[in-house]
Amino acid sequence: MSEREVLDLDVLFVGAGPASLAGAIHLKRLLSKSGTEASVAVLEKASEIGAHSLSGAIVDPRALRELFPDFPDTDLPFEAEVSEEHLYYLTENKKIPFPFVPPSMSHHHCFVTSLGKLTRWLGNKCENEGVDIFCGFAGTKLLYEGEQVVGVRTGDRGIDKNGEKKPQFEPGADIRAKVVILGEGTRGSLTKNLIDRHELMQGCNPQVWAVGVKELWQMPSGTVPPGYVAHTMGFPLGQAIFGGAFLYGMQNDIWDLGLVVGLDYQNPGVDSHHELQRLKNHPWIRSLLSAGKMIAYGAKSLPEGGWYSIPKLSVGGAMLIGDSAGFMNGQRLKGIHLAMKSGMLAAETTAEALATGKFSESDLADYDSRIASSWIRDELWKVRNFHQGFDRGLFGGLANAGIGLFTGGRGWGIKNRLSSEAGHKKMQKGVKKNRYQDLQFDGTYLFDKVTDVYYSATAHEEDQMPHLKIRDQDVCVSKCTEEYGNPCEKFCPANVYEMLPDGDGQRLQINFSNCVHCKTCDIMDPYQIIDWVPPEGGDGPVWVNL
Ligand code: SF4
Repeated sequence: MSEREVLDLDVLFVGAGPASLAGAIHLKRLLSKSGTEASVAVLEKASEIGAHSLSGAIVDPRALRELFPDFPDTDLPFEAEVSEEHLYYLTENKKIPFPFVPPSMSHHHCFVTSLGKLTRWLGNKCENEGVDIFCGFAGTKLLYEGEQVVGVRTGDRGIDKNGEKKPQFEPGADIRAKVVILGEGTRGSLTKNLIDRHELMQGCNPQVWAVGVKELWQMPSGTVPPGYVAHTMGFPLGQAIFGGAFLYGMQNDIWDLGLVVGLDYQNPGVDSHHELQRLKNHPWIRSLLSAGKMIAYGAKSLPEGGWYSIPKLSVGGAMLIGDSAGFMNGQRLKGIHLAMKSGMLAAETTAEALATGKFSESDLADYDSRIASSWIRDELWKVRNFHQGFDRGLFGGLANAGIGLFTGGRGWGIKNRLSSEAGHKKMQKGVKKNRYQDLQFDGTYLFDKVTDVYYSATAHEEDQMPHLKIRDQDVCVSKCTEEYGNPCEKFCPANVYEMLPDGDGQRLQINFSNCVHCKTCDIMDPYQIIDWVPPEGGDGPVWVNL
C-alpha cells in the first residue's frame, strides 16, 4: 500500500491567484531582507498557473506599484491602458449614454488585462524569488492540532467513480506548514470549512456573490481599439436583477464581453449563460460582434458583499486573503488590487510570526489589524453599503450609491451599516415564465451551454467520483422540482445538472466533467445541500487569456 507523503514547510499559500502570488513574492523579499531562511510554497489545483484564472479584468495598478517599484517600466502583460470609457443604460434595442462616468466608477489610469496572463507573469516572478509552486494538486483538507491549523492534505489520485482505488492510486500528501494562507478564490472548499469551524462570519452581513460569464471574440484586423471600456446596466437583466455587462478591447483585435449577474435574484429561472446570449442579441452588441468568431468562454463567481461581509481573517496557523476573504469593490467591479494587497499584508504578518516563532490566533490577529489600517479598508469603507442598496432594485441601488458619494459610503441608512441576507434565501418559490423562449442557439453567434463549455477547454478524468457532493438527492427530484423547478439546471453556466426522465419520475444527472469551477451551485442552491469540492488535481478548465 502506498504511504502518504509528508512535506514540512514554513509557509503554504493555497491557490495561485493574484493574492497568493503577490503575497509569496513580498514574503520572500521580506525574509531575504531580514536574512531569514524559510521555505515558501504555493499550491495550485490547476495544471498550470493561470489555467483557472478568470476575471473581467481591469486592473487598478496600486498594489502592483507597491510590489514592483519600477512600475510601469516592467514587462507586465497588460492588454492596454484604459483609453476611453463609456457607461450606458441599455433598453432592448437602444443604448443610452450616461452624460459622464462618475469618478467612483472611473477606470482612469487602470489597465485592461487578462488575469490568466497576469497570474502566469506573477508565477514567474515567484519562482525567481525562490518560491516553490506545486501545480496540479488540490488542497482537500485542513490539518489541525487542536484548533491550530498545521497544514493541508492534498487530494488522492486514482479513485474510480465508485470510490474504489484504481491500480495507479496515490494518496494525497500532507503538507505541514507553520502558516497556511488561503487564497483559493471565491467559495473555496477549505475556506468554507475554516469559516464554519471557527464561526468567522459571526457579526458580519452574510456574503453575497455574483457570477460573471464571459466570451472572447476574435474580430477582423484593426476593428478593436485596445483599452476601450464600456459598462452597461439595464437590458438584459432589467431592474430586478443586480448586475450589468462589460465590454473591453484587448490586443490583437479581441473583444472581451461579459455579464455579471448578482446571485441574489428572486426568479429561480434566471440563467446567467442565457442572459449573456440575450445580451448578444442587442443591436449594438450584434453590430460589434457579428463579423467575429467566439474563441473562449468561462465563468466565475465573485464576492459582492463588501466590507460588512468580510469575516474575521485569521485563526491559529491560518489567514484568509483575496476573494476567499471577500476583498472586492463592487462599485468599481475591481478586486485584483485588493487581493494582491491582502496577500502582501498577510506576508508582513507572516514574516513577523516567523521571526518570533509564534503562530497562534492572537499572533496572526495582527493581519486583521493591518487590513483595518490599510488602504483596503479605506477603499471598501467608502462603498460599504453599495450592494445592499440594490435590494430595492436598480434605481434604488443607484440612488443609494449616489447618496453614498456624499455621505462617505453611508448611503440612505441612518445607521452606518445596511444589512443584507444571503442571496439564495431571496429565491422565490414557484416556477416563473421562461425568459429564454425566444433564444435560438445557432452555433455561430448564439451558443448553447455545451458549445460554450467546449470553448472553455474544460476536461476532467471521467472515472472519478463527481466533485459536486449533493447531500440528499431526494430533495432534488421531489421538493426542489415542485418548489423551484430545479434552478440548478439554470444557474449552472456549464450544463452540469440535468433532470432526466426515469420511469414514472425523474433523476438528477451530474455531468461533472463540464464543470468550469465557478462555484455558483455551492452558493445559489436554495437548500444549501451542494458542496463543491476539488476534483483530481489538474482537472478543470484550461484558460489562457481570460
Ligand atoms: Fe459552476 Fe457548480 Fe456548474 Fe461547476 S457545477 S460550473 S461550480 S455551477
